[in-house]
Amino acid sequence: MADMNLPLSALGKHHIALNDDFGAHNYHPLPVVLARGQAEWVWDVDGKRYLDMLSAYSAINQGHVHPRMLETLLEQSARITLTSRAFYNDQLGPWLKELTDLCQMDRALPMNSGAEAVETAIKLARKWGYLVKKVPHDQAEIIVCDANFHGRTTMIVGFSSDSQYRADFGPFTGGFKIVPYGDADALRSAITPNTVGFLVEPIQGEAGVIVPPDGYLAECDEICKKNKVLFLVDEIQTGLCRTGKTFCFQYENCKPELLILGKALGGGFYPISAVVGSDEVLGLLKPGDHGSTFGGNPLACALSRTAMRILKDENLANRAFELGELFRSQLLLNLPKEVVKEVRGKGLLNAIELQTSAGPARNFSEQLALRGLLAKETRATTIRFAPPLVISRESLSWALQQIEEVFSVPRR
Ligand SMILES: *Cc1c(COP(=O)(O)O)cnc(C)c1O
Repeated sequence: MADMNLPLSALGKHHIALNDDFGAHNYHPLPVVLARGQAEWVWDVDGKRYLDMLSAYSAINQGHVHPRMLETLLEQSARITLTSRAFYNDQLGPWLKELTDLCQMDRALPMNSGAEAVETAIKLARKWGYLVKKVPHDQAEIIVCDANFHGRTTMIVGFSSDSQYRADFGPFTGGFKIVPYGDADALRSAITPNTVGFLVEPIQGEAGVIVPPDGYLAECDEICKKNKVLFLVDEIQTGLCRTGKTFCFQYENCKPELLILGKALGGGFYPISAVVGSDEVLGLLKPGDHGSTFGGNPLACALSRTAMRILKDENLANRAFELGELFRSQLLLNLPKEVVKEVRGKGLLNAIELQTSAGPARNFSEQLALRGLLAKETRATTIRFAPPLVISRESLSWALQQIEEVFSVPRR
C-alpha cells in the first residue's frame, strides 16, 4: 500500500517491519509507533509527541494512563485478578450495583469485548422472543440498520451491509433484516409478528459519525414498544459521556430494554463490556445459558468501577458537551466550503466530511499526523475527531489551529 512520507527512524521502521513480517495484515495503521501516553497526549518510540484525536475508537474517554486507573490496576492486580464465575468475587457485585445505578436499569451481564456484548444482547432478545413474546421456534427476527457496525464475529458480520466485512466469511446466521438508518417508517414497515428486537447505534460511529434526525430514537422506541419489540441500543462507542451526555440515547425521550456498553467501560486499561437492561429480559437467563471465563473478573470490575467514577468526578459529560459545541462552531466558522462539505457530531464525537473534489481523507489525516495530530479517516471522505474527554481547552485550541491549516486547501 502506498504510504505517507512521515519521517521514520530506524526504530520506528523496525517495529513496522515486525508487524508486516509476522502479523496478519488486517489493519492499515498510520506509520506512527506509540510507546507512551498521558491524558490526551501520546509519544512515539522517538519521543515525538502527538495529540490523540481517535482515543482508541472512544475506549480512552478518561485519557491515557489516568493516575487513578493506574493506582487501581496496581492495587487490584496485587490482590486477585481472575476467579471465573464458578465463585463470587468482591469486585463484581459492587460493579453490577454501580453500573446499573449509572444506567438506571435493573440488571447487567459482564463480557469482555464489544462484539461479545452485542452477541449477548442478540441471544437475550431471541430468548425473550421465544419465552415471553411466544414467537414460533427458530423464527425470531432482529432488525438492524444499513451501514451498522456492531463488531466482527461471524454472526455480527453476517448482518453487516459492508461487503468487505462479509466477503468470504459465510455462511452466515439467519434471522436479520436490514432497514435504512434514520428512517423510523422503514422500521415500522419491517416489523412482523416474529420481530423480537431492533438493534441500533444512536450515532453510527464507524459509518462516519452519522447523526440521525432529531426524534428518530424516540420514534423507534415508541414503534418498538407498540409492537412488542425490544429496543436494543449499542452505545459501545457513543456511551459513557462521549457525546455530551452519559448515554447518547438520553438526548431523546426513550428507554432501551437492553443497553450495550464496551470500550470506555474499561477506562482504556482492560477490555470489559456489558449488557445492561430490564429484569424482564436479563432475568430470563438461567445458570448455564450463557457465560464467559474472563467476564466479570475482579481486575476488570475494579478498573471499570474506577473508570465510571472518573466520568462522574471529572464531569466528563458536560465537558464533552461544551468542548464539542466549541469545536464544531469554530470549524464551521473557519473551514472553506470548497474543501469541507459538512462538520457533524455530538459532544466530542465529530467528523469532517470532505467535498469529493478535495482529495482522499487519508491525505488529510497524514498531513495532520505530520503536525502531531492523530485522527483517522473512517470512510474515503470522512475524518473522525474524538479526543479523550479530559482534553484541555489549550490542547483543543491547538488542534483547531492544525485542522484549520490542513483543511484550508484541497490535498489531491
Ligand atoms: C467498537 C464497536 C463495537 C465492537 O467492539 P469490540 O470491542 O471491537 O468488539 C460494537 N459496536 C460499536 C458501535 C462499536 O463502535
